[in-house]
Amino acid sequence: MNQSLVERIIRADIRALSAYPVPDARGMVKLDAMENPYLLPPALRQALGQHLAAAELNRYPVPSYTLLKNKLCVQFGVPPGFDVLLGNGSDELISIISTACAQPGAKVLAPLPGFVMYAVSAGFAGLEFVGVPLRPDFSLDRDAMLAAIAEHQPAVTYLAYPNNPTGTLFDAAAMEDIIRAVGNSGIVVVDEAYQPFASDSFMGRLPEFDNLVVMRTVSKLGLAGIRLGYMAANAALLQEFDKVRPPYNINVLTQAAAEFLLDHRAELDVQASALCRAREQLRQAVSGVAGVEVFPSEANFLLLRMPNVDKVFAGLLQRKVLVKNVGKMHPLLQNCLRVTVSTPQENALFLAALKEAVPESFL
Ligand SMILES: *Cc1c(COP(=O)(O)O)cnc(C)c1O
Repeated sequence: MNQSLVERIIRADIRALSAYPVPDARGMVKLDAMENPYLLPPALRQALGQHLAAAELNRYPVPSYTLLKNKLCVQFGVPPGFDVLLGNGSDELISIISTACAQPGAKVLAPLPGFVMYAVSAGFAGLEFVGVPLRPDFSLDRDAMLAAIAEHQPAVTYLAYPNNPTGTLFDAAAMEDIIRAVGNSGIVVVDEAYQPFASDSFMGRLPEFDNLVVMRTVSKLGLAGIRLGYMAANAALLQEFDKVRPPYNINVLTQAAAEFLLDHRAELDVQASALCRAREQLRQAVSGVAGVEVFPSEANFLLLRMPNVDKVFAGLLQRKVLVKNVGKMHPLLQNCLRVTVSTPQENALFLAALKEAVPESFL
């Protein structure tokens, strides 16, 4: 490959990046990506197969996606008068927001540590990203957020509710102050990717705020493989975002699978409740391991802190357990691991491996 061609054609900031790392998880207990560990019951999978077999693969999707959108609105409590826009995962929705808002000088703001795609996507679109540190207990620093909003006038502010990778459900009153402070000068995207495991939501509050966008995904609910995200906001905003959306972004198989599975949503809800119970059991068990601190979580993962996290991470890998070492992601995350809550069996494997991997010297 001619290097000078790459240098001539590809943006310097893109060349300086490394590709999003996805570790090889073959043979591992995979607890690194917040996937739902449960499969659908065999009879439901059979029926799904039949439903998918009827999909017309020779046709482009009908890009209005009316039936799927209606099902999502009804099932996930989108307030009357509000619609959703669909994305190939919420990752695509974030990218659509970035593209649509990328005016010269426009900025994107989010608390840190947070979901990395907000900053990555802002960078791709040429937007400046401003990160505001959380407090050391991972709560929202309301005053620092308000000061940053006054200084930077962000076009887009992201608040993950609950936050990844901390699991924190931010204080709703502080969120409200932020949404009001941004006011007419920007939008606030409340990212509720972990809504199936959380005790609160801003979806029902859309009518209160003209600048509020509520973003969700079916990924953490158990359908990460089909890639489907949605966002709700007032019609004027959605209409503009929709112009940026690739017209056939949701493929017919995803559309058919989602339409079918939303009619059997109880199955997925049962799995989510099991994961919520398992989260509390795992949290209790891990808090009993000497030297390991565990943070409150309203998501399907736990954030843990322990001395010498790199050594513990390596010890877990040796024992075929893959978690995410977030210790170098942000200074506030020093010595932290993020572990997905899984089945009771996999959680027990993780716990046993953790007890072995934690060096004797902690005890
Ligand atoms: C996992 C995650 C997403 C991504 O969801 P997809 O729909 O799978 O692209 C979005 N936001 C947060 C905070 C997440 O953790």
